[in-house]
Amino acid sequence: MNYVFGPVPSRRLGQSLGIDTIPLKTCNWNCVYCQLGRTMPLTNERREYVLDENILFEVERALRSHKSGGIDWVTFVGSGEPTLHIYLGEIIRRVKKMTPLPVAVITNGSLLYLPEVREELSAADAVLPTLDAGNAELYRKINRPHPQITFERLVDGLINFRKEYRGKLWVEVMLVRGLNDTTQALEEIAKILQRVKPDAVHINLPTRPPVETWVQPTDDEGLMRAMSILGNIAEVVHPAEGSFDLSGYENIVDAVISIITRHPMRQDELERTLTRWSAGQVSKALSELEASGRAQVVERNGVRFWSAAPSHYPQK
Ligand code: SF4
Repeated sequence: MNYVFGPVPSRRLGQSLGIDTIPLKTCNWNCVYCQLGRTMPLTNERREYVLDENILFEVERALRSHKSGGIDWVTFVGSGEPTLHIYLGEIIRRVKKMTPLPVAVITNGSLLYLPEVREELSAADAVLPTLDAGNAELYRKINRPHPQITFERLVDGLINFRKEYRGKLWVEVMLVRGLNDTTQALEEIAKILQRVKPDAVHINLPTRPPVETWVQPTDDEGLMRAMSILGNIAEVVHPAEGSFDLSGYENIVDAVISIITRHPMRQDELERTLTRWSAGQVSKALSELEASGRAQVVERNGVRFWSAAPSHYPQK
């Protein structure tokens, strides 16, 4: 499987079957906390990065092999920004025809200013866009967007989408210490959220390896501040524990690559996840992948993570 993975555990979406519509790492943002490395180069071009028929073929196969249950949501998420796929709306609609399961899209929300993108996402049951900043300067500092997607466009897109969209709108805020966890920064985000009126606000922390070495998650005080300023629809989302379904993979190498391309992980997490194989087999597979240039170790805040080799992480 190249475009479909899991189901993987998610705090918000239970066991979530992931659909990846774009190659690593295709994005119009270059967030300082991105766990997938730097975006090189930034692109804001919407096109058919992957043939939609190839994606749908894999989705159908995965749904068929889980007929008896085990999936709570089908989620568009993965190696970058899914709305850059020009046929995303068509793919969502065809997935909805295949299954009664709810469909979610995890997006940075930057293209919601385009009426056609709003229309495409309207077919989903839940949309989870990002809002990390309440002003243009902080937006450029944290999300480092493509020049075409300004802060005004991001905010307008969110507000217009909310007016038209009948599904669940859950806005995600990634809290980075010293950047958007101050009282002023949070109050500015809260002001925008009052205009957007999402159904929920999910507060996340950059606990996976952030691309920039200096990025730190906010501390307990910052979290409490965020909870009190962002209001009672805000909740902290901790990383989910649970099992990754790797039944679609014949061998350990494919399973490891599929996971670490989308979720860089510590070795002990990988050993717990890959229970079909022994810790020794996992360790051997990782060493071989590193030696052959397909995986790399990224160290952040004293913790070593395994990631796919094509991801770009600066050393300093
Ligand atoms: S966190 Fe998401 S939006 Fe930000 S650069 Fe990474 S893939 Fe793009």
